[in-house]
Amino acid sequence: MKVLYNGCYGGFELSDEAVAEHGKRCDCSAAAAASTQARGCPVLIEIVEELGSERSSGRHSEIKVAEFDDKFVGCIRFDEYDGLETVRVDVMEYKLRSIQSVLKSNCSSEEGMERIRGILSEKQDCDLLRSKMPTLKKKKE
Ligand SMILES: [Zn+2]
Repeated sequence: MKVLYNGCYGGFELSDEAVAEHGKRCDCSAAAAASTQARGCPVLIEIVEELGSERSSGRHSEIKVAEFDDKFVGCIRFDEYDGLETVRVDVMEYKLRSIQSVLKSNCSSEEGMERIRGILSEKQDCDLLRSKMPTLKKKKE
């Protein structure tokens, strides 16, 4: 699963070219907008990947693609500071959703407890769950 985010100070804004191309190729409800509503649209993500970040981004933006495991659908959160966005997985939300699906399944309570135990002990590598912040790169020594 992929999403778009803005990787610099400024704010999420698509270039006119990306917006026009999106309008041509896609009829999703966000097609007319250069807004953040379009960040999850697969057609727009494809366009950004084709055009590259520079051509897809508005004047004060650096539009980038972040990719997450499909199991995290619905658990992606955006943090924003002065328009600079980072994307992360809300691990608590992910675990709650996983537990909910165990509760909805028809397994025995014993098996359910075992599966919930597995979910709670599942370790997530935080580095893989977060978009990079290119404007805040540390110098390598
Ligand atoms: Zn679209």
